[in-house]
Amino acid sequence: MPMRESTNQPPPLAGHDAFADDTALMEALHREGAGWAQEELHALGTLAGSAEAKAWGRLANTYEPVLHTHDRYGDRRDEVEFHPAYHDLMRTAVSHGLHAAPWADERPGAHVARAAKLQVWVAVEAGHGCPITMTYAAVPALRAQPEIAAEWEPRLVSRVYDPRFRPASEKHGALLGMGMTERQGGSDVRANTTRAEPLGAGGPGGEYALTGHKWFFSAPMCDGHLVLAQASGGLSCFLVPRWLPDGARNSLRLQRLKDKLGNRSNASSEVEFDRAWGRLIGEEGRGVATIIEMVGHTRLDCVIGSSAGMRLGVAEAVHHAAHRRAFGRELIDQPLMRNVLADLALESEAATTLAMRLARAYDAQQDAAENAFKRLATAVAKYWICKRAPAHAAEALECLGGDGYVEDSPMPRLLRESPLNGIWEGSGNVICLDVLRAMRRDPETVEAFFAEVGAAAGADARLDIEVAALRDEVADTETLEVRARRVVERMALVLQASLLVRHGHPAIADAFVVSRVAGDHGGAFGTLPAGSDAGTIIERARPKLN
Ligand SMILES: Cc1cc2nc3c(=O)[nH]c(=O)nc-3n(C[C@H](O)[C@H](O)[C@H](O)COP(=O)(O)OP(=O)(O)OC[C@H]3O[C@@H](n4cnc5c(N)ncnc54)[C@H](O)[C@@H]3O)c2cc1C
Repeated sequence: MPMRESTNQPPPLAGHDAFADDTALMEALHREGAGWAQEELHALGTLAGSAEAKAWGRLANTYEPVLHTHDRYGDRRDEVEFHPAYHDLMRTAVSHGLHAAPWADERPGAHVARAAKLQVWVAVEAGHGCPITMTYAAVPALRAQPEIAAEWEPRLVSRVYDPRFRPASEKHGALLGMGMTERQGGSDVRANTTRAEPLGAGGPGGEYALTGHKWFFSAPMCDGHLVLAQASGGLSCFLVPRWLPDGARNSLRLQRLKDKLGNRSNASSEVEFDRAWGRLIGEEGRGVATIIEMVGHTRLDCVIGSSAGMRLGVAEAVHHAAHRRAFGRELIDQPLMRNVLADLALESEAATTLAMRLARAYDAQQDAAENAFKRLATAVAKYWICKRAPAHAAEALECLGGDGYVEDSPMPRLLRESPLNGIWEGSGNVICLDVLRAMRRDPETVEAFFAEVGAAAGADARLDIEVAALRDEVADTETLEVRARRVVERMALVLQASLLVRHGHPAIADAFVVSRVAGDHGGAFGTLPAGSDAGTIIERARPKLN
């Protein structure tokens, strides 16, 4: 290694095992039933911590995807070209099964193992996680039409990343996306105007021609998309492949790519359908019910993605503070900086712990109580963990001082990415209203939620008091809509607290409860009470360079 001219500058955080460094994740992997995946996670964590993979992440965002609408002769191409680094990221994700492994793996804990891998890997680069997540999430929705699932699933679970633009039937592996949002409405998909006309008898599995548009259509180089459109029976779900069965291109016209705040490696297009060919998944008029399976799994991934971003922020912040001196000692030894780092680490551990507990519910698809828990807890976790991510990223960035504001560091990208999970798959308000809807329609979800929280009853009096108060707040249905964010936030905090009290390190559990449940905390990170065990909390979060 060449001699460094600069002093008091930290070594780059590279050459470490990003999984081994993530104590909360390692503990959760075993606790939630996927200890068998440990070796695979160390291998992926070592790659994620390598300078090479970090360079892929930077390059894939510096050299952004390029849309080619036409070829040199004026014929439509509708193809997006990516930098090789994007393909390296995708190849790694697919070869490790992040896009679909649990659908081809009977082992208990398959969703937990995949969730842990996703947390480790999308910290390297979040944008390519979009098609990875959409493919994972599309499979259960596709199963509503068994013969189409039978045709597509073997391609989707393949561990071969095949980016060639050709019919899926000729490829070694395939990926799926989704198209719901239109110009006039995203949250309110029932306002969709894209029309679907049957080509023949129609009905489940039948052929249709789709005419209309989608305003956000990410990862258009996926081999097919699940698309909502209005059929005569109402809003319906269709599988729209990029190619037709006869080997011609389907008529999806990519209009342009969005110029986005972050997530720049991911091509998010606007598309028009000109009698595009699609097949009905499930029944006409049941589009929302069909695609909701996909939405649930993508929300899980929003939780994991935001948790991964927090972990990255903590690792970079603690690493920097451990190697940077000011006013005569390392930043990590300055009492006020210790408060900030510990507070950030606490938030990250709470997010990871909840994300992995939630993933276990996805492993227990046959268990009614777990399904009821999953229904509510997914929305609760999606709201709060995604909501915390931007404030967390900004504070982690500040720990690096000016160096954190410069594009050479990963922090600006982390910050730009951080609001996204809060927006898609249900923006904050929409998610909170969804929680109210679930509580109203399925009271068993409320019981399942409080049963999970109540497993910590008697362990911490402060938590017991807050749980009782929350029950009262939920029971009072008057003005509930106005209070929805307050209610969902409280639900998230007691759920995280219950998990940490039962399973977390005592220093973590105590600091979490005193600050987030008992309210001895300010509006910013770095406001833990003086008695918190910052040393233990920070040590658990500290990355170890090889
Ligand atoms: C980078 C990126 C990629 C995307 N990729 C895709 C994709 O591949 N496929 C796809 O289908 N979509 C995609 N989306 C779209 C995304 O899912 C939508 O933007 C999102 O669902 C919100 O819809 P909207 O933009 O129409 O906002 P709106 O529905 O107009 O909502 C605007 C605001 O109003 C709030 N709001 C809505 N209803 C209520 C209410 N009743 N009470 C109170 N507040 C309310 C919302 O919470 C939100 O804050 C993508 C978005 C982004 C940013």
